[in-house]
Amino acid sequence: MKIKILKKSDDEIEFEVTGRTPAFANALRRTMMVKVPVLAIEDVIFTANDSPLFDEVIAHRLGLIPLKFVPKTFNRRDECSCGGEGCINCQVVFVLDKTGPCTVYSGDLKSTNPEVKPLYDNIPITKLGENQKLKLEAVAIMGTGKEHAKWKAANAFYQYEGDKFKFTVETVSGLSPKDIVIQATEILESEAKELKKAL
Ligand SMILES: [Zn+2]
Repeated sequence: MKIKILKKSDDEIEFEVTGRTPAFANALRRTMMVKVPVLAIEDVIFTANDSPLFDEVIAHRLGLIPLKFVPKTFNRRDECSCGGEGCINCQVVFVLDKTGPCTVYSGDLKSTNPEVKPLYDNIPITKLGENQKLKLEAVAIMGTGKEHAKWKAANAFYQYEGDKFKFTVETVSGLSPKDIVIQATEILESEAKELKKAL
């Protein structure tokens, strides 16, 4: 197998793979999109919501905000040593407390973990009128794109050019494209090892 990096930026990577089958290329593409775990907001507890949007709509919008985090620092909550109760090793709590008139942005979410924050500060969540309040606590946990699109790490596709695959991987999460490719190859490797062990 030969690999050539064609282009690399903060949110996109392009590379060429030679000497592999379409089945391999497709497994890699799918793994990058739906199996690499990322952090996203899952539970939201509202104390006040005077905004024009329902709680469910705001919770949905919060879930789609990409979060920047250090790869491999968090366990899945359902596999954590805390037994799924939630602890600093498997979840991050954000606090939001705003009073209008204003627009509430992703940057208004205050993280209780200094290493985790929204990737962009300027994603609008809702608008608040005079004296309207939005007060909530949001809990982010690890998940994969297979479970819900909000945990999708990347958009990945390839062009098949006779004897080589030209991949484009664009991050849609807080992970860098490089981390996504690395983790996807590690996941494929561990799956192959499991199969070998079973045989
Ligand atoms: Zn835990």
